[in-house]
Amino acid sequence: PDDFDPAAYEELTEDGEAEPAVLPIVAVVGRPNVGKSTLVNRIIGRREAVVEDVPGVTRDRVSYKANWNGREFTVVDTGGWLPDSRGLAAAIAEQAKLAVELADVVLFVVDANVGATDIDEAVVEILRRAKKPVVLAANKADDTRTELEATALWSLGVGEPMPVSALHGRSSGDLLDRVLESLPEPAPRERLGEAVGGPRRVALMGRPNVGKSSLLNKLAKQNRVVVDSVAGTTRDPIDELIDLGGKTWRFIDTAGIRKRHRENQGADFYAILRTQSALERSEVAVVLVDASEPLAEQDLRIVNTIVEAGRALVLAYNKWDLVDEERRFYLDREIERQLVGARWAPRVNISAKTGRHMEKLVPAIETALDSWGHRVPTGKLNQFFTDLVSSHPHPIRGGKQPRVLFATQAGTRPPRFVLFTSGFLEPGYRRFIERRIREEFGFEGSPVTVTMKIRE
Ligand code: GDP
Ligand code: GDP
Repeated sequence: PDDFDPAAYEELTEDGEAEPAVLPIVAVVGRPNVGKSTLVNRIIGRREAVVEDVPGVTRDRVSYKANWNGREFTVVDTGGWLPDSRGLAAAIAEQAKLAVELADVVLFVVDANVGATDIDEAVVEILRRAKKPVVLAANKADDTRTELEATALWSLGVGEPMPVSALHGRSSGDLLDRVLESLPEPAPRERLGEAVGGPRRVALMGRPNVGKSSLLNKLAKQNRVVVDSVAGTTRDPIDELIDLGGKTWRFIDTAGIRKRHRENQGADFYAILRTQSALERSEVAVVLVDASEPLAEQDLRIVNTIVEAGRALVLAYNKWDLVDEERRFYLDREIERQLVGARWAPRVNISAKTGRHMEKLVPAIETALDSWGHRVPTGKLNQFFTDLVSSHPHPIRGGKQPRVLFATQAGTRPPRFVLFTSGFLEPGYRRFIERRIREEFGFEGSPVTVTMKIRE
């Protein structure tokens, strides 16, 4: 398929061919009328009726598959997305933020005849902060004179202005060469979701007396431990590297866990501070709860903090040696009722005292981390949405039926999905979508966010 039509992936995926690759995304941003759509047309190499002079005609497509010199990528025309009515400048700022969130490279289009406007300057501010590669296209450089004038756009401070005429095709090859140079290397599949480097970082969390230091001692006693103080600014060793299940793991702020024993338990402020900073440095949190006692408010708060921080999560029910039939019955109901927001977290029932099921901890952590770094290929995702929208369309409201036009996973760690819709999706329908995403793609042990961008 030439363009990014989700339905076109059907054949590819069904006959067992390679899954659609995760193509790099080039987002085209700029003020209205600078020629974004014309340029997108030029890039995808055909004269489709994308540029419509008929007012009120909405473009149904925003993303297209393109190929230049054998390199494939997805072009997203953000031009049609003006999310609200706060005025042009605000809308374009929003569009630029969206573009940098989505894109691997931003293709920023300005009108060479007009030069840099205030709005262009504002967009540059956003692009610079995001630190994504930017290619500056000085469009409508139809002749040599305008081409020369385009050099004034150096003043925008986003590098060399590339003069181009989207309409006539002048210099569009040079522009695409520049875009390709800026594209990141495609990430090998096995590397997706891996840590940036070094052992994966685990935080043990939970309210006082749930058994954190007991668990840590148990793990450390049975396994090789290297005390590590690289992250510390004090003389205390901060982290410990522990070998578990054939891998080395970095347990964050073990000093904090061990030390809390000696501190008086009233030092809440420091406990919270340490918990926060441990969480920030971790990739996955193992939350211990005391299985022998009713779930406490504080347990739920800790779980929520982790979900909000977007970290992978494993729930460890400790002191399982103290759990009897009756307690077990209530426990299941508690989880069902109170931990609804983290139903997706893997659970292990352990005893730091007896060592029960300690071996289940590592597989649960690995599952959570895999989910946390998992990326669903855009083709597959859109196939899923095509099916979902046809089998379970949004209810009609006021004669309108909002649709999901295009979906992309904007990021991992944790997975973040962005839905481009033709109208506001009701909360109930959004929850339904989130549930279906989990049913379809798993994500056990990881929070997942779904945001919506409305096209008007
Ligand atoms: P968008 O709103 O940024 O998507 O802009 P369009 O692609 O719809 O283009 C706006 C107008 O500028 C249209 O009338 C185009 O034909 C015209 N245009 C686009 N590119 C060029 C160009 O390179 N040179 C000239 N002279 N006109 C152009
Ligand atoms: P922390 O404050 O979370 O670090 O909790 P500790 O590790 O200090 O444990 C608090 C108390 O619970 C201690 O008296 C431990 O001996 C006890 N404890 C910890 N884990 C278990 C367990 O699995 N079973 C039982 N029965 N007691 C435990």
